[in-house]
Amino acid sequence: MDLLKTLKKIISSTPLCNRCLGRQFSSLIPSYDNETKGRILKDFLFMNEKLEKEGFDRKSLKTFKALAESGHELSQNFIKKNKPGLKISPKPCYICNGEINQIINRAIRRIIEESTKVEFDTFYVGLTLPVSLEEKDEKVKSFFKLGFGEALKNELNKEINRSIEKALGKKARMKRPDVVFVYDVVNDKVSMQINSIFLKSSYRKLVGGIAQTKWRGMDSNDVTPSIEKMLEEILLPVFKGKKLKFHGAGREDVDVKMLGSGRPFIVEILEPKVRNVNLNDLHLEFNSKFGSMVEVSPFTKASYLDVPRLKMEAERKKKTYRVVFETEREISEEELRDLSEKLTGCLIRQRTPLRVLKRRGDRVRKKMVYQALFKRLGNNRYEAIVTCSGGLYVKELLHGDEGRTVPSVAGLLDTKVKIVEMEVTGIEGG
Ligand SMILES: [Zn+2]
Repeated sequence: MDLLKTLKKIISSTPLCNRCLGRQFSSLIPSYDNETKGRILKDFLFMNEKLEKEGFDRKSLKTFKALAESGHELSQNFIKKNKPGLKISPKPCYICNGEINQIINRAIRRIIEESTKVEFDTFYVGLTLPVSLEEKDEKVKSFFKLGFGEALKNELNKEINRSIEKALGKKARMKRPDVVFVYDVVNDKVSMQINSIFLKSSYRKLVGGIAQTKWRGMDSNDVTPSIEKMLEEILLPVFKGKKLKFHGAGREDVDVKMLGSGRPFIVEILEPKVRNVNLNDLHLEFNSKFGSMVEVSPFTKASYLDVPRLKMEAERKKKTYRVVFETEREISEEELRDLSEKLTGCLIRQRTPLRVLKRRGDRVRKKMVYQALFKRLGNNRYEAIVTCSGGLYVKELLHGDEGRTVPSVAGLLDTKVKIVEMEVTGIEGG
């Protein structure tokens, strides 16, 4: 391709502002912005015409005139001097109608205004452009067979992000920035999408009757207290967040206590308007309000990637439970020892428990019991300390779930088992 020929063809048929011309050749001299590129290309054509023709002829006059009409000052002055009578009527840019720099400046101004409403370190700006603008840009590219330009949106995004970085001293980042601003060019409006904050901690549940998360079923009258709700009360006002989501490393039943060093969790705060919070004392605030029921460890910053990690690790981690249960008949010390021997190191086949069957699919899980110890507490009352793989339904290991969990304490003893009390006493590495 002959650059000069193509350039002349474009300029003499299609008025383009510097930026819109420069964009069509953007990968040829990447070190300049498109505005500068466009000016250089026009200067280049101007110089070439001057050299070649050493003055005016009809053909070169046409080129000088087209250059002048597209806003090229050197050409305007040149014509004024050499053809004072010739009338130059400036033609607006075919693609942007001469508005592109205004669009950029307006976007920057509006986003900077909007940015005062929220706290962030990283951001990204996207644009919604009028369709016609992009269409015309594409048309020029395809009509003149220009294969080294960049897309209009791409250029504007780059330009605006760069300017805002400078103005605010914050980092533009495409992947998971704190805030995404979208500037709608047609309606001159900015919308904001604030990404969540993630905090890591662990909880100890000292009493029964507390759910991990809020009830999300049909019955809106459910008033069971939940750890999620408690976290909301403490964290949402601090971060000025809209909502909060609890991600636990597994869960225990509402009536089961969670002791030992606690169960890890990640709390996600959605749409926080405040991000830079001193985390040091946040857990103390929680504990002073809810500490008689639930205690949390100090919060640390986490990322969205930690959520699936937490869930995966929870499945792999060993858990230890203490269960107090009653049996229908008296069990001898010898039977208890025998039971311990049979269950320790035993692989348990467990069909989805009847009590959760409504919510979860029926399937068979195979989970390990690493250790099971039993102790007599009193009349038909015993204590079990069970260490097993994460995800084992321990209540069912005890009462057998009508034969759906095999082997089970009830099955091996051939008696009915009733659970009186249960708590998680430890999570490996937790
Ligand atoms: Zn333009």
